[in-house]
Amino acid sequence: MNTIQKLADFFSRFPGIGPRQSKRFVYFLLSKDKNFLKEISDLILKLKDDIKMCCFCYRYFPGQKEGAEKCEVCVNTQRDKSVLMIVEKDTDFENIEKNGVYKGLYFILGGVIPVLEKKPENKIRAKELVKRIEKDVKENGLKEIIFATSLSAEGENTRDFLNDLLKPIAEKNKIKISTLGRGLSTGTELEYIDLETIKNALKNRI
Ligand SMILES: [Zn+2]
Repeated sequence: MNTIQKLADFFSRFPGIGPRQSKRFVYFLLSKDKNFLKEISDLILKLKDDIKMCCFCYRYFPGQKEGAEKCEVCVNTQRDKSVLMIVEKDTDFENIEKNGVYKGLYFILGGVIPVLEKKPENKIRAKELVKRIEKDVKENGLKEIIFATSLSAEGENTRDFLNDLLKPIAEKNKIKISTLGRGLSTGTELEYIDLETIKNALKNRI
């Protein structure tokens, strides 16, 4: 296999990238000078050193210290600790946060559960979520959990799984479970929705 094919194979493993697009990336890189390629390679190598995962919400953020560290949203004392929004991925978090209407805290699942998945608990951070909620109940007076999974089949399947998983602890501690308003068209991904849609989805949560 030549270098073009090898690199294209790597790109085709990226989310949402098919074989044709991955080849286009390779030819784009070939058209650039060596400095450009070096800059990209260096940035990729630095990613794991410069970016940490928050020990509380599991999102990636620029962090210096090794070990357990919370991101700036989780340590912000102005945030409403009684509300927890559960999203699938970092880009969903980024989009909701960018719009600035939601003042509570977050948890990033790190994936979705495919329909008919035999081991659903392994596809998302299920154990970590339960631990987090137990902590929130004790320390933060958690009152509401908002499911903000996407409207795809996997997103709905994930929501159903979470609902079953969290129902006992929610009922025991009188925590309300809600879902972002469903005014969005089917397949709309949270990472793309705009300010007005998020506002309405929050207002119309059920
Ligand atoms: Zn965090």
